[in-house]
Amino acid sequence: MSGSTTSPWTAAAQSAARYAQGPVFLAGDAAHRFPPAGATGVSAAIRDVHNPAWKIAAVVHGHGGQNLLDSYAAEREPVGRRNADETGTAWTRIFSGMAPGPDAHSWHLIFDCVLPTSMTRALAFLHPSN
Ligand SMILES: Cc1cc2nc3c(=O)[nH]c(=O)nc-3n(C[C@H](O)[C@H](O)[C@H](O)COP(=O)(O)OP(=O)(O)OC[C@H]3O[C@@H](n4cnc5c(N)ncnc54)[C@H](O)[C@@H]3O)c2cc1C
Repeated sequence: MSGSTTSPWTAAAQSAARYAQGPVFLAGDAAHRFPPAGATGVSAAIRDVHNPAWKIAAVVHGHGGQNLLDSYAAEREPVGRRNADETGTAWTRIFSGMAPGPDAHSWHLIFDCVLPTSMTRALAFLHPSN
C-alpha cells in the first residue's frame, strides 16, 4: 500500500459565497483558497475554526442561540473575501513585475508585496478581528 498521494495545485483567489448553512460550517481551505502571496492560509483557517468552536460550545451549554451561530458567517466571510482580493492582487503584481529583470523583480517583491504584507500582518496582530 502506498503511503503518499499527490494532487495538482493551481493558484486561486476564491472565497465561498456562503460559509454556513444550517448545521454546516465551512472553514479553512474548504471555504477559501488564496495564492501564496501573503501566507494567509493557515492563520485564516485557524481563526475560521476558533470562531465557531466556542460558539457551538456556548450553544450546547445553553449560553447562546442561533444568532450567535449566525455571527460566524457574518464575521468570517468578509475576511475571506478580503484575503482573496489582496493575495490575488499581490500574486498578479508579482508576476507582472518579473518582466524588467531579476533586480527589478526583487525590489518589486520587497516594496510592493513583502512590506505591505508584513504591515498587514502587524495590523492583524493589533486588531485580532481580522
Ligand atoms: C505549497 C503550499 C505552500 C503553502 N504555504 C503556506 C504558508 O507559507 N503559509 C500559510 O499560511 N499557508 C500556506 N499554504 C496554505 C495552507 O497550507 C492552507 O491554507 C492550510 O493548510 C489550510 O488548512 P485546512 O485545515 O483548511 O486544510 P488542510 O491543511 O488541507 O487540511 C485538510 C485535511 O483534511 C484531510 N482530508 C481531506 N479529505 C478528507 C476526508 N474525506 N476524510 C478525512 N480527512 C480528509 C486532508 O488529508 C488534510 O489533512 C500553502 C499551501 C500550499 C499548497
